[in-house]
Amino acid sequence: MSTMNSQVLAWLAPRRGEMEALLQTLVDIESFSHDKAGNDRVLEALQAFLAGDGVAFERIPIEGFGDALKVTVGAGAGNAHALMMGHRDTVFPTGTVAQRPYRAEGDRAYGPGVADMKSGLVLIAFVMKAFAETKSAPYPLVALFTGDEEIGSDTGRPIIEAAAVGARAVLNMEPGRASGNVVSARKGGFWMKIDVTGTAAHAGVNHQAGRSAIEALARKIPRLHALTDYGTGITTNVGVIAGGIGHNTVASWASAEFDVRLVEEAQRAPIVAAIEEILAADDVPGTKATGTMMSHRVPMEARMSADLLARYQAAAAEIGFSVGGEFTGGCADSGFTAAMGVPTLCGLGPVGEKAHTEDEVCHLDTLVPRAQAVAATLLSLA
Ligand SMILES: [Zn+2]
Repeated sequence: MSTMNSQVLAWLAPRRGEMEALLQTLVDIESFSHDKAGNDRVLEALQAFLAGDGVAFERIPIEGFGDALKVTVGAGAGNAHALMMGHRDTVFPTGTVAQRPYRAEGDRAYGPGVADMKSGLVLIAFVMKAFAETKSAPYPLVALFTGDEEIGSDTGRPIIEAAAVGARAVLNMEPGRASGNVVSARKGGFWMKIDVTGTAAHAGVNHQAGRSAIEALARKIPRLHALTDYGTGITTNVGVIAGGIGHNTVASWASAEFDVRLVEEAQRAPIVAAIEEILAADDVPGTKATGTMMSHRVPMEARMSADLLARYQAAAAEIGFSVGGEFTGGCADSGFTAAMGVPTLCGLGPVGEKAHTEDEVCHLDTLVPRAQAVAATLLSLA
């Protein structure tokens, strides 16, 4: 591989200061998932940075959440594109930036969303600009910036899936792991609200007439938890329970929030069938349990990332760092594209730690090499 000689990597090499400046700009714009105005300001900052010769923009309006922005560099009819993805929203409520804005100390930067994933947005922006300025995109490069990943990508998902159709690869710039590794597989799963109804009765006067929804739910929980199988990677968790109105009334209702994680999409149908059977079981005659699917994520299966991981590792080795692929139980947008059969690799952003906490930190010394590794991976796919 001769990518080290490429003008794209050379263009990126001296840009750490500029990358830090853009990172500061993006972190200091509030962009809580429910803050449409803020998310749109991040979009506009990215567009302003990327504007230039040979860069095409498509802004996709979304009601209630941040618009999506699709950026294309390079052309070529019938030439499959590569897709880079990043979400602009953060988990931090509007007002957080005012309390603790961007702050850098040496090789570490802090601030809301600095790792997850404004540093990833910076990486995408610089890789796109590198190919645009050097006019060296070997095939169309598409970047997609969405605004609702942290709350499940309900508006982003169809746009992501449309953008991934026909792609030769999808690179998702969620933060690199604390270990330095990228993400080669992610769990999928779903969460379900369980509602149980029974019959209320005075606990002292006519106890026999009661049908306890709490007892019915309580009998189901161990069976639901028994579906966990660390061997296959399936986990189940009833994380919240509620029910009843008081000690002297047989409970006419009970409810639970139930989380299920999967490694492969093929595990979904059997586990759903097993859950339905448990819910339908007549544990307490006269009670009835129903499950409502609240949201679900598709797993990113390791087989969809194997080739890209090998390319990325080769690129990283040449740039001067070693990296492995890692499996995580967390879910992300990469699951959507992997499930479409498009080769997908995740966690390609600058290394970050402690996402979703006040201690979130980005390793600034990884800005340039991680951007170069992504650029080299794209070149290897030509
Ligand atoms: Zn993220």
